[in-house]
Amino acid sequence: MTTITRIYNFAAGPAILPLPVLEEAQRDLIALPGVGMSVMEISHRSSTFENLLHQAIADIRELAGVPSNYRILMLQGGASLQFSMVPMNLLTPGSTADYIDTGSWADKAIKEARRVGPVHVTGSTKAENYSRIPTQDELQLTPGAAYVHMTSNNTIEGTEWKSLPNAGDAPLVTDASSDIFSRPIDVARHGLIYAGAQKNLGPAGITLVVIREDLLARSTDALHTMLDYRTHVKNDSLYNTPNTFGVYILGLTMKWLRSLGGLSGIAAINERKAAKLYAEIDRSGFYRGTAQKESRSLMNVTFRLPSPELEKTFEQDASAAGLDGLKGHRLVGGMRASLYNAFPENGVDALVAFMREFERRRG
Ligand code: PMP
Repeated sequence: MTTITRIYNFAAGPAILPLPVLEEAQRDLIALPGVGMSVMEISHRSSTFENLLHQAIADIRELAGVPSNYRILMLQGGASLQFSMVPMNLLTPGSTADYIDTGSWADKAIKEARRVGPVHVTGSTKAENYSRIPTQDELQLTPGAAYVHMTSNNTIEGTEWKSLPNAGDAPLVTDASSDIFSRPIDVARHGLIYAGAQKNLGPAGITLVVIREDLLARSTDALHTMLDYRTHVKNDSLYNTPNTFGVYILGLTMKWLRSLGGLSGIAAINERKAAKLYAEIDRSGFYRGTAQKESRSLMNVTFRLPSPELEKTFEQDASAAGLDGLKGHRLVGGMRASLYNAFPENGVDALVAFMREFERRRG
């Protein structure tokens, strides 16, 4: 058992990991059972490591119900490298990619895609500070588009898609970095899903990519080897040395997720946690949510106080009370409480109690 006191970590990523995962990793850190070495010291070509990787991928396939015509990859370079790899592989000459502009990360993805080929931006809510997700009516999709790119959860602005947009015949490509596996996901409605691991999957340094096999035919030999999805498919994500320790922790996290009843199990917990916090935000008017209600994220809860001075005091006092990482992103200001899968419900209760007390003292 861990005897060190852990504070409540509301950080947006890297973020809190499940305690049972950390405890198991700590127990086996010096020598994996039956191996006599730490997972960081063994070859990525060893059967021990290959088994860890394959088990993690099998657990992902089962958790998310990934159909057999999709390949699951563990890459590096973060979600940010996918901003480039997606268009490099999928934006074929003569076609246009549609991007739905729902936040700062979507905007970054757009900037990279533009280096590769024609991009059509649609459904932008930038003029409203990205405070909501566009409706289907606001999307003007390009007939015959190479793909439609969306960001399922906007980490900075605190908004999320409640249901997938209709992308017509174009494959839907989703940046799911900040809500992956927080709720059931209909993989079959996507062409490609990618996510940095450092919020809901494990530590930083791994990017999960789930790609429909037929899309691999779009990649060409003009691509650099490491930037070609086919390389990683052919080599089972072992073309070069992967983040072995990260894969191990990610595997433990998937096992933990399965023990909670998988994605529908965790979704129920996540809904409860977010509902408690939004109820407090809406209770008196002292706190003000920045996202429009119908677009509110269950993962990143963004809110403001009556003044920047109060926000600063709030953050400092919260930090002193063991509620860490509540400062909002500099682009939005205010507060952001990230309630990823591993964030415990009693941490939400502690924040709500703190908010009431703060309002009583300062309101
Ligand atoms: N997309 C989203 C939605 C994100 O939240 C982040 C990171 N916070 C990124 C992309 C970039 O991820 P990375 O740092 O792994 O490149």
